[in-house]
Amino acid sequence: MIYTIDIPPAFRQDPTQSLHTRCVMCEKELIESNSPYLIEKSYVKPLGMAVYETLFEYAICMDCAVQMRAQMSRESLQRMDSFMAEGLAQDHRQLPDDFEEAAMVDQWLQHCALSGQPIEALTEYQMIAVCQGDQMMVSPDEAHQRMPIVIGGPAIAELTELLSPETREEMDRFRDLLGGVPPEWEALLQGRPVVV
Ligand SMILES: [Zn+2]
Repeated sequence: MIYTIDIPPAFRQDPTQSLHTRCVMCEKELIESNSPYLIEKSYVKPLGMAVYETLFEYAICMDCAVQMRAQMSRESLQRMDSFMAEGLAQDHRQLPDDFEEAAMVDQWLQHCALSGQPIEALTEYQMIAVCQGDQMMVSPDEAHQRMPIVIGGPAIAELTELLSPETREEMDRFRDLLGGVPPEWEALLQGRPVVV
């Protein structure tokens, strides 16, 4: 079963809460054209702080996301996909009895989908959603395509280990495109995968 809901604030742009309207790569318009796309938002909690801040965020259309995957080495891709599939197979988040879609999404975004760690325990995490136009897809039952998801820093670090040096360079080039990452976080992001 796949539900669609209005894109919640957590996946809107800081600080205006406006929707992401363009693909970061090809600049295609996403809302009016009712295109399918991914949103990725990365949060960090600076040492000693209680509040998370957004490190980077972007929307990427499905065509560009597919193209990015095509640029990854086959080995990296296979390793990444099986790591994700294994992690998500352990994801036992259930629908609450008093199912209400928007509330469920909030609840789902409280834990890393791969490790189960609560986000309060993480200094860094990424949130990923599949959207179309102004709607976000919520797929609670599909084992490998559960969306939206949170991936915690430790799981991302494990994932990064699986990538080939070429793929890591590719990821860094993509991140340069996003720009605006504060220098103190740059090292953290080195070689990190994007668009999982
Ligand atoms: Zn695009």
